[in-house]
Amino acid sequence: MAMDRRKFFKVAAAGCGTACALASPTFAADSARRIGADGYGMLQDSVRCIGCKACQSACKQINKLPPDSSLEGDYYDSPRDLSDSTYTLIKMHQGESGEATFVKKQCMHCIDPACQSACLVGALVKQENGAVEWDGNKCMGCRYCMVACPYNVPQFQWKEAIPAISKCTLCADTRLNKELPTGCTTSCPAGAISFGKRDDLLKVARERIAASPELYLDHIYGEKEIGGTNVIYLTKKKVAFATLGLPDLGFKAPPRLTESIQHGVFKYFIPPVAIYAALGGIMAFTNRKNKAEEKGGPDE
Ligand code: SF4
Ligand code: SF4
Ligand code: SF4
Repeated sequence: MAMDRRKFFKVAAAGCGTACALASPTFAADSARRIGADGYGMLQDSVRCIGCKACQSACKQINKLPPDSSLEGDYYDSPRDLSDSTYTLIKMHQGESGEATFVKKQCMHCIDPACQSACLVGALVKQENGAVEWDGNKCMGCRYCMVACPYNVPQFQWKEAIPAISKCTLCADTRLNKELPTGCTTSCPAGAISFGKRDDLLKVARERIAASPELYLDHIYGEKEIGGTNVIYLTKKKVAFATLGLPDLGFKAPPRLTESIQHGVFKYFIPPVAIYAALGGIMAFTNRKNKAEEKGGPDE
């Protein structure tokens, strides 16, 4: 499979994080990689979405986010992409027939997140509640997470003196921890966003597909993609996920992919390292022996 420069750096960044994690005594066991899989998430239904963008402005209000810095003036408009002041965004796909399909973009809250794997200081961590949270007290501003995220989600506050990494928080501080649904969910007039436990959302998604197979593509994006995500998607029968910015990335989580590569690399490093260690030992022994002989002392 061809790998462009950007993809290469994404894999490398996640791999670097994995290598450090492997070297760390706190490296998580397999079961820990499913943390938050039974936590909260959102089902985003592109069959129901009418593109009103109420969710976008609700997110701005709840998170006290200013107008997007890419727009002139202090009025609100829809920016082109996520930014340090836009955690979620409605994008439109227009098919050949002219029919519009809307998709909501934000952090997928991956079960085994590439951003977490790439972060050398543990500033991005998947929580039991399902959210992938960023800790400003730990972040050192390296931006490896931005490179590693397969969805280009984390954003950097370029204009701030002490920049933060910004992304959807799943409303963890403002609502989730009070067991309230996310702000974008409550603002949606079309029932296009559902909030709840991931297992329940998967059931709802399956029921919608079964009830209206003529409307829905028989696929839930995020059920298995990149190891599963807590934000999952439904799309129209004739609109592929890839055309909505949800590419086919396979089912294996990026950190596990890079871990296999690292294991393979380390496996082939072991024999040369062992040989060098043995040679080093022999040289040290010979040096000490020569020095002892020069002094005429007893052979150590
Ligand atoms: S979508 Fe990107 S930023 Fe969000 S959890 Fe996944 S890897 Fe991290
Ligand atoms: S969950 Fe909260 S932070 Fe995330 S997009 Fe919705 S309103 Fe914004
Ligand atoms: S509020 Fe609901 S219908 Fe409106 S754009 Fe957001 S998801 Fe779509």
